[in-house]
Amino acid sequence: MDDYLNLHDGGQLPAIGFGTWKLQGDDASNAVSQALEAGYRLIDTAAIYGNEKPVGEAIVSSGIDRDDIFVTTKLWNDDQGYDSAIEALDLSLDKLGLDYVDLYLIHWPDSTTHHEAWKAMIEMQKSGKAIHIGVSNFTVQHLKDLIAMSGVKPAVNQIEFHPGIYDEQKDILEFCQDQEIVVEAYSPLAQASLLEDETVEEIAEKLDKTPAQVLLKWAMQHDTVPLPKSGTIERIYSNFDVFDFDLDSEDMESLNSISSGDRVTHDPHSHD
Ligand code: NAP
Repeated sequence: MDDYLNLHDGGQLPAIGFGTWKLQGDDASNAVSQALEAGYRLIDTAAIYGNEKPVGEAIVSSGIDRDDIFVTTKLWNDDQGYDSAIEALDLSLDKLGLDYVDLYLIHWPDSTTHHEAWKAMIEMQKSGKAIHIGVSNFTVQHLKDLIAMSGVKPAVNQIEFHPGIYDEQKDILEFCQDQEIVVEAYSPLAQASLLEDETVEEIAEKLDKTPAQVLLKWAMQHDTVPLPKSGTIERIYSNFDVFDFDLDSEDMESLNSISSGDRVTHDPHSHD
């Protein structure tokens, strides 16, 4: 398994990233420092998480070359106009203490304003403040409309993705992969709710891996980039330790068929 995936607009992103939702203040900076120490090179934050400052401090003070860390932040719904989107990225960069982000995402589709935000993001990419631009929680229809309106394909669509909703997410996964839009898998552990699933536990025991490692590897073998979050040092390390084993096709099938339809966040088909 490769350590990086290709982006259709050039360059690459790491095959696994570190999520920071719900981490605040020193907890956020300590967790990001540990994650960078453990080897993660993709850090995922968002304006709405309220932690860009401590996340940025950990990145800047890590001593790792800025070019070697793939930093993502997201534009929140309230700022989805043209001018407000430009101002929002400037504010995020200021909080992060960075000159550019590697990836800037529209956090949620908003039927009335996200097209204006996308036009602004195309300009942000041209200016170099966002190396790549993408979206999050977009359905197939949202993506078709956005591409038809602008002629510019997002580099990434970040969506909820774990075995619990594999059936529901098959169409968006297939569409993105046909279009060479990288899918990032958020809540890859279904916020810990799949860690005690019988199938996950059985496979983990057979392979002498943790249930979390099995779920993360499942996401990676679907060519998505999982973004596990943890504020616990040993979990931060063990969640990254997923490069020395593979799931066979039988394990992948068993995990695919867990699909219960239970999301842990909102369904973008019904939540605007
Ligand atoms: P998640 O990563 O699926 O699960 C996080 C939970 O699992 C935490 O409670 C964590 O606890 C626990 N955990 C982590 N590793 C574990 C392990 N090895 N063993 C046992 N428990 C473990 O959920 P998430 O935070 O919802 O999603 C991950 C990231 O995706 C977010 O942080 C965020 O960056 C992104 N996200 C994006 C969106 C969006 O709309 N774009 C939405 C949701 C999430 P501890 O922290 O106590 O270890």
